[in-house]
Amino acid sequence: MIERLAVEHADAKIALTFASPLELLVSVMLSAQTTDVNVNRVTQALFVKYRRPEDYLAVPQEELERDIFATGFFRQKARSLRGTMQMLIEEFGGEVPATLPELVRLPGVARKTANVVSSELGNPEGIVVDTHVRRLSQRLGFTKQEDPVKIEQDLVRLVPRPDWPRFPHLMIWHGRRVCIARRPLCEDCVVNDLCPSSRV
Ligand code: SF4
Repeated sequence: MIERLAVEHADAKIALTFASPLELLVSVMLSAQTTDVNVNRVTQALFVKYRRPEDYLAVPQEELERDIFATGFFRQKARSLRGTMQMLIEEFGGEVPATLPELVRLPGVARKTANVVSSELGNPEGIVVDTHVRRLSQRLGFTKQEDPVKIEQDLVRLVPRPDWPRFPHLMIWHGRRVCIARRPLCEDCVVNDLCPSSRV
């Protein structure tokens, strides 16, 4: 299934725009409860103004809130960003750590965010489970669970480790283009002969 989906969605990759590990971390933190397109719109200007962890602490919190306002939940996100930047400076020499246990220590960085960041930095320690990954993993028979943590436990047993980084992107793009939530296009699906939920 992974091989077929990789051919079908050869362009599947993270939809956030970033040029450094710090920009990746900030983008993923801002992407909670909003779209990647919206985050990219905001970070276009944000990353010109805020280049180093120190820059996020050099302005009043209200100014940072205004600069990320359009991503929603801006107060909480600004607090998390500032706390994270403080810890990056104090404990990680101003660099973004690449491992999951280190990343989840950062304020406001939950397991899902940490998984995305460590995976993109070439150090996958789990499989990112979002709404598309959950729906497709259930439809494809990879899991019967509802809880994202339990779904991830099933997936890491099934998916070969080298495929961990690309697996969520394949699920996400297949979920957006073909295995749509309300109306899966099973007749156009390259894994319909393997899928227990196929309608064809
Ligand atoms: S066959 Fe249908 S339900 Fe199964 S993965 Fe393809 S689109 Fe989704």
